[in-house]
Amino acid sequence: MELRLEKFTKRFGDTTVIKDMDLTVGSGEMIALLGPSGCGKSTTLFAVCGIHKMNGGTLHFGDRDVTTVPAQERSVGVVFQNYALYPHMTVEQNIGFPLKIQKLGKAAIRKEVERLSELVQIGELLDRRPAQLSGGQQQRVALARAMIRKPDVLLLDEPLANLDAKLRLEMRSEIRRIQRETGITAILVTHDQVEAMSMCDRIALMKDGKIVQLDTPEQMYSNPRSQFVAGFLGNPP
Ligand code: ADP
Ligand code: MG
Repeated sequence: MELRLEKFTKRFGDTTVIKDMDLTVGSGEMIALLGPSGCGKSTTLFAVCGIHKMNGGTLHFGDRDVTTVPAQERSVGVVFQNYALYPHMTVEQNIGFPLKIQKLGKAAIRKEVERLSELVQIGELLDRRPAQLSGGQQQRVALARAMIRKPDVLLLDEPLANLDAKLRLEMRSEIRRIQRETGITAILVTHDQVEAMSMCDRIALMKDGKIVQLDTPEQMYSNPRSQFVAGFLGNPP
């Protein structure tokens, strides 16, 4: 489902951190919000999932205006760097938790947990607890939990930041595979330009609360429109 942010403005107190930002993510597309620390990536993601109220502008999921719709009534799945799994629950209980809150029956939950655990390939781990999993496996569980309610939009905020280099590589392609297989519309927040280039259809490069260039990775790399873009792509932060 297409996601459309128009003239999005966000203030904290007297400080405007995002001003009149436009961003359209096509149905089934995965876009990276890329940029240095503090440029407003997470703030944008929090507005899309409804954790932050917008101070101006509109947000549409397809034809539906969700600008003032509360977070729990938006069809979004989120995976955050520090959005921890429930330590006392098994993998199965963690993945199924969003459906348990909705009071779905045990058999129905079990069926959906099996569908998702197959998708993220952790079928043999359902009885374990989070402490018994690797970082990569934990992120697979978090992804399955985020997607179990079949959200229209998947939001990922630095999902690989806590992983070691080898797992990060593996999870880059895994997240992309899962996004492609499900055809879900996705936004990936990252400060890592290699991650953005290798995982996403298009990149929105941000600076000081504004998108300075929005292009495919190839276009952005071969045709940076400013020194800032060239510098950011060429020199890892
Ligand atoms: P990024 O995710 O790109 O690193 P953020 O979106 O977290 O950046 O932050 C953008 C700007 O907004 C920063 O200057 C940050 O200090 C400020 N900011 C973020 N959250 C809050 C908040 N809850 N209260 C006040 N300022 C905030
Ligand atoms: Mg952030």
